Amino acid sequence: MIEKLYNTGDLSDAELKSLITSEDDGVSEKLALYADKVRNQHYGKKVFLRGLIEISSYCKNDCLYCGIRRGNKNAQRCRMSAEQILEAADIGYKLGFRTFVMQGGEDAYYTDDLMCDIIVEIKNRYPDCAVTLSLGERTYKSYKKLRDAGADRYLLRHESADCQLYKKLHPAEMTLDNRVKCLYNLRELGYQVGAGFMVGAPFQTVENIIADLRFLQELRPQMIGIGPFIPHHGTPFANEKGGTAELTLRLLGIIRLMFPKVLLPATTALATISENGRIKGLQTGCNVIMPNISPKDMRDKYELYNNKLSSGSEAAEGLENLKKEVESAGYFISDERGDAAV
Ligand code: SAH
Repeated sequence: MIEKLYNTGDLSDAELKSLITSEDDGVSEKLALYADKVRNQHYGKKVFLRGLIEISSYCKNDCLYCGIRRGNKNAQRCRMSAEQILEAADIGYKLGFRTFVMQGGEDAYYTDDLMCDIIVEIKNRYPDCAVTLSLGERTYKSYKKLRDAGADRYLLRHESADCQLYKKLHPAEMTLDNRVKCLYNLRELGYQVGAGFMVGAPFQTVENIIADLRFLQELRPQMIGIGPFIPHHGTPFANEKGGTAELTLRLLGIIRLMFPKVLLPATTALATISENGRIKGLQTGCNVIMPNISPKDMRDKYELYNNKLSSGSEAAEGLENLKKEVESAGYFISDERGDAAV
């Protein structure tokens, strides 16, 4: 079955189900070998870095899984000023980052005008860098302004392509329809788009995961972000089980074979639940790492889930360690912007 996926880039739903649920360790090993091979064909041993700047822990949304949901009265709220964001980018640039990702809760403080100013300034200072945004759902008009100001990429996980599951993970005012509309709007505007979902989210079934893969086949995003769900103590899902590293890696391997040229991050969530999750991710087809370059006090407050890693190899100052870690596994950190292979 893995050969078939490798050769054709696709499987039937029944085949996907048996590949996803197989408890044979040999399957994981073989999948990793093939995924690594396919990644090598398109990207070699290169790993692209993204400097993640967590600009705000204020959020108007109430996603049931997320630690910075508005209903979490104990969340520490904090936002970065334009100056602080530019300073973080400056430090990141000197460290060698060539992509800056501004991510945050949906915070009305960041108007289109303010975001445009920040984007224009970053592009002026560092014309060789890509600007990625991850600021949730905005209007077509807003996405257009940000794109016109110079934003290159946008990360917006679809979270679940199944309407029923989407509803169980989100408050009534949020809809899968709007999420999907946003993704297609972003694509139409010429952004390089990233979608994705959490692995092992509460109520998620194998069928739901297959629906996510089918949705990704339709959308054809340049980036796919998946990581394990990790419960956060201040949310309604505090006592739910988290997703496993094993299933996350299984899906990363499958995604690499279904989408040979996609940009695939080994996420912080995976590194948080598994000691060498990041390296295992690279060995299973991943080619992107997103270290945190936010100032330390901001990092502590942007707590999406319990025990979120924000120091060591996850952070800018751990870059030397990260380089060593990546090199010891036979990969190397690229100094390029890291656009998707065409
Ligand atoms: N507001 C932005 C950024 C969200 S944070 C947006 O709506 O896109 C980025 C991602 O973190 C989310 O898309 C979600 O998939 C993930 N995330 C949130 N809470 C999580 C949790 N408890 N465990 C694992 N991942 C989580």
